[in-house]
Amino acid sequence: MSTPPRYPSKYPEDVTVYASDTALIVVDVQNDFADPGGSLYVPGGDTQVVPAVNHQISLALEAGASLFYTQDWHPERTPHFAIDGGIWPVHCVAGTPGAGFHPDLRVEGPSVHKGAGGEDGYSGFTMRDPVSGEEIPTGLAAMIREAGCLRVVVVGLALDYCVKDTALDSAAEGFDTTVLLAATAAVNLNPGDGDAAVRQLREAGVTVG
Ligand SMILES: [Zn+2]
Repeated sequence: MSTPPRYPSKYPEDVTVYASDTALIVVDVQNDFADPGGSLYVPGGDTQVVPAVNHQISLALEAGASLFYTQDWHPERTPHFAIDGGIWPVHCVAGTPGAGFHPDLRVEGPSVHKGAGGEDGYSGFTMRDPVSGEEIPTGLAAMIREAGCLRVVVVGLALDYCVKDTALDSAAEGFDTTVLLAATAAVNLNPGDGDAAVRQLREAGVTVG
């Protein structure tokens, strides 16, 4: 019988957060979000988030944790975009430079593509069918379970959309879930969205450190 590792409140210094049963999910560190020239640039994406995420990747690899990545991966026309009734400028169109990983990001694991069939939604775990509204699993939960992981750490972009929804779904899947604020940043489309996301995550039992 071993005591499961505790998630301390201080990140990113404590290496013990990662173990072989931990999955680190790196959410959407793509050029359209992380590069100042991207169509949906999140301030700090390149200068703050990419180095912080790379640091977490190093810690995770040292501990034998599993690494997973997600990428927004849209068709040219989708109800997700403002031109087709959504709220977002065109971003992360499949195969374009904007959909690629930021060049400084360490990529050390498989990537789950979200939205390739025109689905909406932000989570790395589920997508919404644009017509029926039905939730469709991406396969990420199965990949994490196959890797033997019980704990999930979520980092990347952006805190108030894809990081939040990925972490909420992770907790709903039964994984012990942590979001590291040092390795994410908020869009704050409306002022305070980032703070509201933190409250919502904590209410759902997600550790926010
Ligand atoms: Zn998107």
